[in-house]
Amino acid sequence: MYHTYLNVIGCATSRIAGKVKRMGAPSEGAEAAGRLLALIRDGKASSRPALERASGLSRVTVVQRLRYLFDAGLVVEGDATEASGGRPARVISANPDFAVAIAADVGESVIRIAATDLSPRIIAETTIDLDVASGPMATLTEIVRATRKLVSGLGKSQRRVLGVGLSLPAPVNHVAGRVVGPSVMRGWDEFDVCGFLGRELSVPALVDNDVNLMALSEYRQFWPRVEHFLFIKAGTGIGSGIILDGAIYRGARGASGDIGHIQFDESSAPLCRCGKFGCVEARAAGWAIARDLRANGYNAKNARDVIDLLEQREPDCIQRVREAGRLLGEVAADVVSVLNPKTIIIGGTLSRAGEHLLAGVKEMIYRRSLPLALDGLGIFRARSDDRAGILGAAHLVIDAALAPEAISGTVDRLARADDNRNSEKTLRRARK
Ligand SMILES: [Zn+2]
Repeated sequence: MYHTYLNVIGCATSRIAGKVKRMGAPSEGAEAAGRLLALIRDGKASSRPALERASGLSRVTVVQRLRYLFDAGLVVEGDATEASGGRPARVISANPDFAVAIAADVGESVIRIAATDLSPRIIAETTIDLDVASGPMATLTEIVRATRKLVSGLGKSQRRVLGVGLSLPAPVNHVAGRVVGPSVMRGWDEFDVCGFLGRELSVPALVDNDVNLMALSEYRQFWPRVEHFLFIKAGTGIGSGIILDGAIYRGARGASGDIGHIQFDESSAPLCRCGKFGCVEARAAGWAIARDLRANGYNAKNARDVIDLLEQREPDCIQRVREAGRLLGEVAADVVSVLNPKTIIIGGTLSRAGEHLLAGVKEMIYRRSLPLALDGLGIFRARSDDRAGILGAAHLVIDAALAPEAISGTVDRLARADDNRNSEKTLRRARK
């Protein structure tokens, strides 16, 4: 769903929108065509006969709806064929070059920004060194500047921007496009992130927290057939992302999955960054392990330092990471009882500890869960690399723009943007 649409200046009807309108496809027609596109994008059908079978529609209707998708440039037909029962059928696929998505992953001290095609595959990227504590105006202004530069460096045909997606290390109200009650991002509380980015870049903007987006990316890339999926990020902080029936489950306001601030024991418990005592984070996060290691004379500030010490085989560090794994397992076992996931993935910097961390997670889940919940349950280390946040943000933008109900708006908006670029070019030429 798109919640932050921006006015795009200009109203000339472009070649594509004109073509689409002439063949008489009002927005309901576009939405129906969008449902076929969803079947193609989900890998459920990739030829005309397969689309007929998957949608239950007649051949004539499938051809008509596909025409909208072809005219808009959303799908392409290759030379390859696939068996279809009768004659081999040409393979139809989503066009990865229809437009680009802009994705930005804000870390606590580095921001990564990328332009992706619709696969999504990164086609250009850049990084900015900036402390997220500099506040939303400074951070987002830098993102806007870097995005403009990135887009202007793309090939002419790649400058159609579908939207911008932002990954933030904070609780995010996805619907309102705002950060709410961050523990490590002072000054960001209630800032209208999507409004700002959308106004400055004149494209739809979406925001979500980093763990949801890492979960989405890991799921899409490596576990697309797992319908009940839990991703736990164990890094400097701790959180989890839940995928149910193929989509991020956010709860009523976007707070679901925030397992890092579940409190275990308030008496004599360590103070958390959120101001409460005894949170999972305050015992098992990278910053908490680093705190304990510092008390034992080690030089450690964050999860990366913990992993460095672990790789040097420091016994205190190994013991402390194993203890963190068991605590993570305790809270994961509670989540297993509530959600009954099929697959649990442990990601984030601490997951580089491998079995030192995972052994404790598995031990506690197996000890505490019911046999039915354990039946077929897999617990693995994440396979994504450090681009998971970026790719997740790109998925967010692409899914929203290509959702059946959004297709017509997306096609019209990009066509108007094409027209604007062309008329600007004509004006510039006329002035010369
Ligand atoms: Zn806390």
